[in-house]
Amino acid sequence: MSSDSEQEDNNKTALRLQKQQFYSLVDKRLAEMKTTSKLPTETQYNEYLQLLRTWEPKAKRTKKDYRIEIKYCLVAGPDSAALRKKDSMQKVATYESVFDIIHSKHEKISHARDTRKNKAAVEEEFYGVTQDVIDIYLSVCPKCAGSTKVIKAAKLNPLKMIYSPSIGCRAQMDLIDMTSHETKDGFKWILVYVDHHCGFRHVAALKRKTAKECGDALIAILGVAVIPEILQSDNGKEFLGWCLKLIRK
Ligand SMILES: [Zn+2]
Repeated sequence: MSSDSEQEDNNKTALRLQKQQFYSLVDKRLAEMKTTSKLPTETQYNEYLQLLRTWEPKAKRTKKDYRIEIKYCLVAGPDSAALRKKDSMQKVATYESVFDIIHSKHEKISHARDTRKNKAAVEEEFYGVTQDVIDIYLSVCPKCAGSTKVIKAAKLNPLKMIYSPSIGCRAQMDLIDMTSHETKDGFKWILVYVDHHCGFRHVAALKRKTAKECGDALIAILGVAVIPEILQSDNGKEFLGWCLKLIRK
């Protein structure tokens, strides 16, 4: 399997889990709410549709039927299989479709975490999605939710341990920001170079975190350390470009 389709599968699984979690929370919330604020199910939606299609003013109707007739209408034309909210002409969200509706709107507004923004985006097109339901969605969006959801995302895509069998296989480097403890002679960065196998480290004090200064310090370190097969960094700009050129020389 290529890594692309693997990634796609991971995304699908994540979305399915998110949806499951969403509906279990929504069900719990709906159980606490009054019946009137519930979203129609797909079945109810079709019943309403059927009712309005066959609506005759003189026929005998129940109170509930009238309530539906007051609230919803049908649109003419090719889209006539759709129920609309009277006046606003919004489409009507159903219980089954509400996750996908919020999900697509939420992605469109680039994961804005503000409930009102999400609600406004949904209401541009759909009727019946309450703030509660949007809040529940936001609480299960892996990108938006807090730390507990990060653990869930990590479970789906566990970190892989890197194993280095011997000294010199892999070394890692980074800069420690000491600007708040600048020395009298102007040193304020520590370049740390660690061998991944044994953890033996070299350090160098730097005055600036320029590529040139990092490169010079690294060359001094590499002069006494075992030259690593892989040298890892966070790809900060001070480690790229000029710094790499210096080392390659
Ligand atoms: Zn989000």
